[in-house]
Amino acid sequence: MAQPLVFENARILDGSSPEGEYDRFVRVANGAIEEVSERPIKDASARRVDLKGKTLMPGLIDCHVHVIAALVDLGKNANLPDALIAYHAAAIMKTMLHRGFTTVRDLGGASHALVEALEQGLVAGPRLIICGKALSQTGGHADFRGRYYNRDPYYQTRRLGALGRVVDGVDDCRRAARDEIRQGAQFIKVMANGGVASPTDPIAFLGFSKEELSAAVEEARNAQTYVAAHLYTDEAIARAVEVGVRSVEHANLIEPPTAALMKTKGAIECPTLVAFEALKSEGESLGLPPESVRKIDDVRVRSPESLEIMHRAGVTMAYGTDLLGPLHRHQSEEFVIRGRVLPAIEVIRSATVHAAALIGMAGKIGTVARGALADLIVIDGDPLADLSLLTGQGRNIPIIVQGGNLIKNEINM
Ligand SMILES: [Zn+2]
Repeated sequence: MAQPLVFENARILDGSSPEGEYDRFVRVANGAIEEVSERPIKDASARRVDLKGKTLMPGLIDCHVHVIAALVDLGKNANLPDALIAYHAAAIMKTMLHRGFTTVRDLGGASHALVEALEQGLVAGPRLIICGKALSQTGGHADFRGRYYNRDPYYQTRRLGALGRVVDGVDDCRRAARDEIRQGAQFIKVMANGGVASPTDPIAFLGFSKEELSAAVEEARNAQTYVAAHLYTDEAIARAVEVGVRSVEHANLIEPPTAALMKTKGAIECPTLVAFEALKSEGESLGLPPESVRKIDDVRVRSPESLEIMHRAGVTMAYGTDLLGPLHRHQSEEFVIRGRVLPAIEVIRSATVHAAALIGMAGKIGTVARGALADLIVIDGDPLADLSLLTGQGRNIPIIVQGGNLIKNEINM
């Protein structure tokens, strides 16, 4: 077991209060936060760290990633050998951890083998919450065959580099949802709308029938979990939320009445604005196919307005990024992009308390409180005053603790 840690004179910022708390003392032992106090903590065995002038936050949580996305071209990615994809995933996850993300939720592709590799300490990376392969209908957002490629689509189902699997019909949706859960999926992802990165589905297309979506929702509920859906258009969001989809991904084209419906139903939104900004500026040069490049602005332009609409409706928003291949280095820029539209504290909450609620780990992660897992980061300065402190590949994050272990430490103690 790692040596206990005591953080002294810490300003805590986890989103549970608008400004955070100052001059706190935090004791970490046995992988957990064992004490948070206004008074100095006695522990002769502990390493002590003075955090005067710094901010102590829970490890960040990104609720929409694809750790198997080695390339921007997802069709090509699905054809890479599994071993190469696994090495890419290890490298992608390591850099995520060093940006301060101690938990990420994968929205398509990652397998339980990666979860196990992390648990066994074979690779360093965030806690990984997975849905296995995303479910897509024929011609939907995870069918990457294009117009002229007519072999059957099932080659994707067991390739580590594939984001999703193709399923059609209520029975197949049930079977695939059950199959993903059998293989370790902790929630179910469905592609319920057209997408940018896929070749033959304009944004406005609805993915799956209502009956198919309902079947996925029922199967997820039977397994004590929920469905996350890839969604852009207002019509698609409303339809999915009505049948019980809980986690709404992207939602760039949402209108106020649907935002109100989400609030009523308790659905949580996971915007991913940085994905579209990064694809706009670099996608083409990184090999994003032309049919995808043409679709970026269909969703990108309305993104800031979608945040305003959901904020006004009181919809809970979690942090998401959805970056692919070399674009992963922009992961923390979502903080700054959202900060142009939303109050900084709301942006902080999206990657802490709100993300933890979405993942179903409230009180365990995303909080600096007694009983939580000891996933912690230290920021040089005040992220509420300047969200860009969270960018720069961890440059302003001198300490990263995961499960009580010091992953990074640049402060003398
Ligand atoms: Zn995605």
